[in-house]
Amino acid sequence: MKKFIVFGLIVMFLLVNVAIFAADKTEKKDDPTVYVKEKGKKYHKKNCKIVKEGKIGMKLSEAIEKGYEPCAVCKPPTQPEKKKEKK
Ligand SMILES: [Zn+2]
Repeated sequence: MKKFIVFGLIVMFLLVNVAIFAADKTEKKDDPTVYVKEKGKKYHKKNCKIVKEGKIGMKLSEAIEKGYEPCAVCKPPTQPEKKKEKK
């Protein structure tokens, strides 16, 4: 019985992932500009004190693609936000 529940959870998890992935492909996304430092591994919001000087702007999706991680201080978005559209 327990195995069945675990299996069900895994299937649900996969279905949700597929749904999110499909939605990502079709919906328009907000792709805000984030900022990185030349030698940094993190990306930041514009007003973050860590990137006050020498910041390089790029699209959020680009930063993620290049393997940058979100800053723990300014907590930038971790993925491009889906625009809310009326159906
Ligand atoms: Zn930051």
